[in-house]
Amino acid sequence: MLIGIDLGTTNSLVSCFRNGKAEIIPNRLGKELTPSVISVDADGKVYVGEIAKERGMLYPLETARVFKRSMGTNKEYVLGNRQFNAVELSSLLLRSLKEDAEVYLKEKVTEAIISVPAYFNDLQRKATKKAGELAGLKVHRIINEPTAAAIAFGMDKKDDSRYLVFDLGGGTFDVSILELYGSIMEVHAIAGDNYVGGEDFTEVLCKMFLNHNHISSDLLDIITLNEIYKVAETCKCAFSTMDEITMSYTIEEKKYEMHITLDDYENACSSLLDKLRRPIERSLKDAGVTLNDIDQVILVGGATKLPIIRRFVSRLFGNKYSCDIDPDKAVALGVALQCGMKARDKEIQEVILTDVCPYTLGTEIVMHNGMFDETGHYLPIIERNTVIPVSRTQTVYTAHDNQTQVNIKVLQGESRKAYFNLLLGEISVPVPAGPKGKEAIDITYTYDVNALLEVEVYVHSTGIRRKVIIQNEKNQMSDEEATIQLEKLQYLKQNPRDEEVNQLLLLQGERLYQEMPEYRYEIDRALTEFEQVLARQNRTEIELSRKKIGQLFNEIDTNLA
Ligand code: AMP
Repeated sequence: MLIGIDLGTTNSLVSCFRNGKAEIIPNRLGKELTPSVISVDADGKVYVGEIAKERGMLYPLETARVFKRSMGTNKEYVLGNRQFNAVELSSLLLRSLKEDAEVYLKEKVTEAIISVPAYFNDLQRKATKKAGELAGLKVHRIINEPTAAAIAFGMDKKDDSRYLVFDLGGGTFDVSILELYGSIMEVHAIAGDNYVGGEDFTEVLCKMFLNHNHISSDLLDIITLNEIYKVAETCKCAFSTMDEITMSYTIEEKKYEMHITLDDYENACSSLLDKLRRPIERSLKDAGVTLNDIDQVILVGGATKLPIIRRFVSRLFGNKYSCDIDPDKAVALGVALQCGMKARDKEIQEVILTDVCPYTLGTEIVMHNGMFDETGHYLPIIERNTVIPVSRTQTVYTAHDNQTQVNIKVLQGESRKAYFNLLLGEISVPVPAGPKGKEAIDITYTYDVNALLEVEVYVHSTGIRRKVIIQNEKNQMSDEEATIQLEKLQYLKQNPRDEEVNQLLLLQGERLYQEMPEYRYEIDRALTEFEQVLARQNRTEIELSRKKIGQLFNEIDTNLA
């Protein structure tokens, strides 16, 4: 069975195409959104999703979140005395989503289509694919999130339209301009920023609260900071239904408050809003269109629920934005439709996707500047926003006399100087010694639909050809390494599924006990009662007690905000 996965920065969703329609698969707790959070205790037990998020409040040092931002890097996370990188953490999350799908669908899941931000570079895409493999999934395709959202939106529309997908998730912002005509969905331009998202808007509120109350964050421990962050997030989301809010938090029995209007908050976020403007302008320019040429703006990502974002969008585009599809689900539904197309489901008309490469790909060359040679120049080979799949060739020449080897650097980026672009890989070919400029070498870059890059080098005089699929050395696994890495992850104990709801409640209770001294007596009694019920192992009794205590804890939790 093939499943679709929206692997988000803050939340992830799993979906499928069944009985002629796209479906979101609920997780083990019956929820559609699984927080992209992993927690590992000292015994190596892994907690994923909601329970990991709850655990993170009490054990922040054993919990990782927002690790999608580190995909394709070597950043290490130490959780429960073990080291993980972003790929491994993502694979634990994917494994859990795969299990949820298997339970729901009552069949084995072996294949997946995973969405990534359009702006993910080559290393980040490969890292995502690798995470899928480590989770035991054959990754059929990596699809861009905005493309998926546009499919979900455009599937049942008859008219040809030009869309701008405005995707503001927890940690990333993507803008894509797409056009649907007939059964072809063509991407015209992609732009974005991997370092701005809903979390930054929460940070602003946190900072406002601390400044307003003259509290220095340096004096607070990480648990208190996390709690303030959580309260800020709740208040931020409350703006969806209220024009003003009061944020409050108690530190050492002293209650701190801040009353704030939506307008104040909007002013404080002005530099973040400016940051959003740039990718929009760039995508319009790259697509060769103006604001007026956009027929529909599709809002995607949890952070687009924020009224200041909607105001910002309507100020730019008028009221052309659509809320037809829940911004949280649009990508996952689109990926599910893509699964249907892949399986050639007769209920669904295939949409041919044409995508573009998000970055310019090139190489480093020496420029002959009349008098002397200048090194470190960037020679673009495939320009950004070129429709993929694509293959382009450039011819370069030997730069020095008696050179016997040519080393080709494969670079990605927009800078004129090679040094400032990202080095994706290198490839060398031998050339016969001779005067500089004599040997001609063709460099061919081929970018496939998954945005995987193949580089071929061809020496004219000798006929020697070298071909590589560009892999980041540090990310590339030999079979042996892959087995070791898999074993390492397998060794970690998963949390038993049926105990998860109960453990979640115990953790919530423990957190509230620490956060809410005024309710300690009730919380303690409820926790003790629940522990006793659990020990008796009577299913019905457990369920009844869970419901009752869950209600109590939720009431106390809402008082927190
Ligand atoms: P995503 O990565 O698409 O799941 O988006 C997560 C981001 O959306 C987080 O920063 C959330 O705080 C934010 N978010 C979710 N719901 C709301 C809401 N109702 N109002 C404002 N922001 C929200």
